[in-house]
Amino acid sequence: MTDLEIAQQATMLPIKEIAAKIGLTEDDIEPYGNYKAKISMKFEQASPDPAHKLVLVTSINPTPPGEGKSTVLVGLGDALSLLEKKTIIAIREPSMGPVMGMKGGATGGGYSQVMPMEDINLHFTGDLHALTSANNTLAALIDNYIQRDNKQDLDPRRIIWKRVLDINDRVLRHTITGLGGLSQGIPRETGFDITAASELMAILCLSTSIADLKHRIGKIVVGYNHDKQPVTVAQLGFEDSITILLKDAIKPNLAQTLAHTPAIIHGGPFANIAHGCNSVAATKTGLNLADYTVTESGFGSDLGAEKFLDIKAPVLGKTPDAAVIVATVRALKYNGGQKLPDLQTENLDALKAGLPNLLHHIENIQQYGVPLVVAINHFVSDTQAELDLIKDTCAAHGVTAILTDSWAKGGEGTLDLAKEVIKKADQASTFTPLYDDNQPIEDKLDAVVTKVYGGRKAVLSKKAQRQIKQFTENGWGNLPICIAKTQYSLSDDPKLLGAPSDFDINVRELVPKIGAGFIVALTGNILTMPGLPKEPAAVKMHIDDDGTIEGLF
Ligand code: ADP
Repeated sequence: MTDLEIAQQATMLPIKEIAAKIGLTEDDIEPYGNYKAKISMKFEQASPDPAHKLVLVTSINPTPPGEGKSTVLVGLGDALSLLEKKTIIAIREPSMGPVMGMKGGATGGGYSQVMPMEDINLHFTGDLHALTSANNTLAALIDNYIQRDNKQDLDPRRIIWKRVLDINDRVLRHTITGLGGLSQGIPRETGFDITAASELMAILCLSTSIADLKHRIGKIVVGYNHDKQPVTVAQLGFEDSITILLKDAIKPNLAQTLAHTPAIIHGGPFANIAHGCNSVAATKTGLNLADYTVTESGFGSDLGAEKFLDIKAPVLGKTPDAAVIVATVRALKYNGGQKLPDLQTENLDALKAGLPNLLHHIENIQQYGVPLVVAINHFVSDTQAELDLIKDTCAAHGVTAILTDSWAKGGEGTLDLAKEVIKKADQASTFTPLYDDNQPIEDKLDAVVTKVYGGRKAVLSKKAQRQIKQFTENGWGNLPICIAKTQYSLSDDPKLLGAPSDFDINVRELVPKIGAGFIVALTGNILTMPGLPKEPAAVKMHIDDDGTIEGLF
């Protein structure tokens, strides 16, 4: 059966019953239909009981054969529930770019999925649409401002606020707006990003209240005036209207797993071109309401987990009590040079050659001082010798690797992992941040490149060097950095698999996201508006006359 067929045959509990499991009354939720609800913001403002545990799920570098990180995460949540731990899953909302493009949805797989799968993967509760509208309203207000009296003397050539869409649409990367004559606006070169990479998405994910949301929106730098001084949303006076457009989107969304574990699905920045973590509001709500909150960060530990630990955790006010690194035999063989069509065949040499990738991700988490366990996501093609090789290699490095069957058996197949996670989360963790925010921007970039990617150094373009000088003068030098980098490699070259070491990271350009509270560094050829692949997932979808969908995954 496909993921969608399993989801379509499942029975969901009314969302009120899911809410009741974590002590939420009908006054605490706003149902969106029978199976989805927004949760009151009061739970994100309370201080969580320090005994409540936070578990972060990350993975090795993603590969075409897939690691199944969401699948293992959902299975782990269900397994903790089976062990009678009050558990909440906190994950990101899927973007329709990947749903219609290449990667597919983000609701797990097999018997470890969140529901209602179709809704979550499509329009869900409309948060991404609200973000898109708010973002583009701000863009329209800015264009109108420069068309009118432009009191702040905003330079049309230096506006950095772009429009966004929740679509993979390469033709919109570079655009010219305002063509057609005097009354059509001031013509200027601009472009579109995907909503998941927008500053408003990051702000929504990092805001802890409406007041904080408004304050952060006010701090957004939309561009520069003719004296090259930054101009903010607050200077233009648009922060209230943009906040109003996000007043519901900021509330976390409640859904459920196939086994009815409560799942909070909120915020969806990508981990390659954005900070890659679900909202602080969702994670904090989980920490307040449950004994265990199982959360994710996108792609491998080089992207999502680094950003979780260096950008999200300080805002959240809590670091993970334990981490799970998801790996598969197939993906490690791929990292070791085995070609895609041959991955079903046993190949211990390729596996051995690919294992340094897993070991690198283990070291990444260990250096932060977070106790960890490796989850081997079991595929039917895995052989005993291959599984033993992973376990033995991990054991030789003092790390436990647990075989998990979340996809085929749901929570029941993930019990061993859950028991180990409980043990790890009870260990004392001594969190060590990677860098001090007060270090110069260059040093923070080098810290991530050398300590997390395993590279030599960050090589800065002339433009990036100029920007660092300017940003520091503007007083932004003490913000954390959010590196936009390919997910496929620890380097900025997607083809460099395994655990390379002989490389530099090329920083092309920096983008100030002052409302979000970080500086983005664009590396290699990474783009903030993805394109569709040769065969988009969209062409394999089908809808019957009665509305039944096929081909969504
Ligand atoms: P990720 O979060 O790493 O992108 P997902 O959990 O979304 O990965 O899984 C990607 C796809 O792989 C899903 O369609 C899922 O059903 C499938 N999958 C995951 N684990 C397994 C497994 N052990 N066996 C077969 N298919 C799997």
